[in-house]
Amino acid sequence: MKALVKSRAEKGLWLEDVAEPEVGVNDVLIRVRKTGICGTDVHIWDWDAWAQKTIKVPLVIGHEFVGEIVDVGSNVNDFRAGDIVSGEGHVTCGRCRNCLAGRRHLCAFTQGVGVNRAGAFAEYIALPMTNVWRHEEGVDQEVAAIFDPFGNAVHTSLSFPVLGEDVLITGAGPIGIMCIPVALKAGARHVVITDINPFRLELARKMGAVAVDTRETPLGKIQEALGMTEGFDVGLEMSGNGSAFDEMIANMAHGGKIAVLGIPSREMPIDWRRVIFNMLTIKGIYGREMYETWYKMSVLIASGVDISPIITHRYAYEEFEKGFDAMRSGMTGKVILDWTGLIH
Ligand code: NAD
Ligand code: ZN
Repeated sequence: MKALVKSRAEKGLWLEDVAEPEVGVNDVLIRVRKTGICGTDVHIWDWDAWAQKTIKVPLVIGHEFVGEIVDVGSNVNDFRAGDIVSGEGHVTCGRCRNCLAGRRHLCAFTQGVGVNRAGAFAEYIALPMTNVWRHEEGVDQEVAAIFDPFGNAVHTSLSFPVLGEDVLITGAGPIGIMCIPVALKAGARHVVITDINPFRLELARKMGAVAVDTRETPLGKIQEALGMTEGFDVGLEMSGNGSAFDEMIANMAHGGKIAVLGIPSREMPIDWRRVIFNMLTIKGIYGREMYETWYKMSVLIASGVDISPIITHRYAYEEFEKGFDAMRSGMTGKVILDWTGLIH
């Protein structure tokens, strides 16, 4: 089968013919239809310090996908050929204290699809049945392809109650932008998002947020314009950028709650005095809750939350280089690669 492979320990990614995955008794074999490119995939292409430390070549990469089940192992009862599914990208150990207690998202021994085990940028992927999510009938398959990052957005946005609250999102990347309709649906009063990229700020505006380049307009001014007097109640950090996080901490209400998804590239100093005197709560977020977040995602989509405007670029898998170039330009929302050969 065709697959995008990190086959050498150097910069690049190569479209190759590889063996189809084997299907264990507990596995589901999926014919991949569409995949989303994640920032992680770009790191793997670039072969940065994280990738060098983490990836064992050769490896089929990619973890955001939707596909159709074509075969199931002998121990699998709940899935059948024809089901439209996505995969949870963290394969948990199943044996640790958290896994046994049903807190699988807190497993300390996860394997990452397309990072530590064969990924989804391929015609087929095999996954343990415990990692497969069946979509509602009629789901938009491009939307289904980005359930993994949408799950990051839903997990983060729903970490703290937002009903009636003023929400600040720092970073209008695809995940930050997908938080907007979720926070609004969950009842937020104002949703303000910051970025320094005009293309993304415009996209965020279309999705219903007050979108701000804080180099031009400080958040204090925005608070004033919105009639807010005490700061933001809930913060969603989606940039991994130190100065964005700093601005967030400086603009939170006393007792404010911050969920942090953005991954800084190095240690990130913050003013702990503000955290203490303003009595802030800061919670780290990794991945999605299995499978509460997935349930919420399906229900949100079925009840009218529309994240489709975040998909801005589509390519056939053979054009993957164009997709990665688009990602690097920053002038994108989500970039989709199609594996069905229908748009050639
Ligand atoms: P992205 O890199 O596309 O988005 C980050 C955005 O932050 C960009 O649009 C960038 O312009 C913006 N930004 C940079 N400096 C800024 C500043 N000073 N103020 C405001 N915005 C600024 O990433 P994404 O795919 O949307 O993901 C968001 C973040 O979440 C990334 O850091 C990513 O690594 C991280 N992530 C974490 C998890 C997890 O499980 N914790 C999962 C996926 C992604
Ligand atoms: Zn575990």
